[in-house]
Amino acid sequence: MQQILLAINAGSSSVKFQVFAAADASLERRVSGLLDGIGSQPRLIIRDGTGAVLVDKSFALATVASVEAAQEIVGDWLEAAQELIGGKLTAIGHRVVHGGADFTRPVLIDDAVLARIVALTPLAPLHQPKNLAPIRAWARRRPDLPQVACFDTAFHRGHGELADRFAIPDALYQEGIRRYGFHGLSYEYIAQRVPEVFPGLARGRIIVAHLGNGCSLCALKDGRSIDSTMGFTALDGIPMGTRPGALDPGIVLYLMREKGMDAAAIEHFLYHQCGLKGLSGISNDVRLLEASAEPSARLALDHFVYRITKEIGALAAVLGGIDALVFTAGIGENGTEMRRHIVTGSAWLGLTIDETANRTRQLDLSATATGPRVLMIPTDEELMIARHTRDVLAAR
Ligand code: ADP
Repeated sequence: MQQILLAINAGSSSVKFQVFAAADASLERRVSGLLDGIGSQPRLIIRDGTGAVLVDKSFALATVASVEAAQEIVGDWLEAAQELIGGKLTAIGHRVVHGGADFTRPVLIDDAVLARIVALTPLAPLHQPKNLAPIRAWARRRPDLPQVACFDTAFHRGHGELADRFAIPDALYQEGIRRYGFHGLSYEYIAQRVPEVFPGLARGRIIVAHLGNGCSLCALKDGRSIDSTMGFTALDGIPMGTRPGALDPGIVLYLMREKGMDAAAIEHFLYHQCGLKGLSGISNDVRLLEASAEPSARLALDHFVYRITKEIGALAAVLGGIDALVFTAGIGENGTEMRRHIVTGSAWLGLTIDETANRTRQLDLSATATGPRVLMIPTDEELMIARHTRDVLAAR
């Protein structure tokens, strides 16, 4: 029987979804959709496998007030579009941000697994509930369908102990305070994609820069994650749209003592009011900052580039050199100017960038025929979810 797989990637106010038909060893994309503006201005856009728009519809706020309600809209549409997607859904795969220390690979969701995912909520209080919502909604809507959880932390669980620890007492490490790393589905996709396009890099020392709304870097060796800039939470590492990245923990103490901020206020501050937005005082969006003449916009972008080049140096040290730097996600795939500045700042590693290749969004952006490569590879987290879902079902 042909598998028709739904991959769901639920964020704080949006749900991305794609449907794949499993044909032999490959997965054929049938539709991809985005329902965003949940809780504010809900809008659904669905495209077919060629990218042609099938649906572009806005909804009243009350109709799509939650991520759960979004599943009903998506589910109703998919049921009516069976001919287009190749039949009835046979399974669903979900992105789940936190898999803790124990989930090292994707798993079929049953009651016990669901309870364990729920128990990890304190480790990702803002994200985990958003991932659980569609799992529960689909379990109610289609209890017959197998569902698979694909963890953003799993790809990093092979990190060595030195990379996995903070310099804090062991009891806290045993309790789960570890450097988990995130964006794992994106990095795993890139790790599989690199050898397809550059077979010579299959065993290489590669730094991947996933620069989207969330930003992190990952060091890959032999296709496996060795280290990442993200740590215990998705706040660590390099600056992001609205998050500061690594911060002296003394700042948190200062905010508590001198500003009287409690945990909830600090959490809101760190997740929503820092990063490019906080530093510029203008926006979290790189496009708007690049278009702005305000000095604070330039400062925010320059600081972003500075911190990224600094961490590229750190990960190059971890890897003992670098064979390729890969840019991916919203800023990595579209931010021509950001790519140029980051590579220029990393020239000491032998990285080069050809301005024409950069502007025209080629795969290989390097200015030289030899030496370490600079690549731009679009990520595909939903395809990775679909691959995992297919494989977990096949192994049942
Ligand atoms: P998410 O992490 O939600 O999947 P994306 O990977 O889509 O987000 O990245 C979104 C970000 O990409 C935007 O906030 C914006 O800063 C950036 N971006 C999108 N297009 C461009 C562009 N043409 N130039 C620079 N940055 C861009």
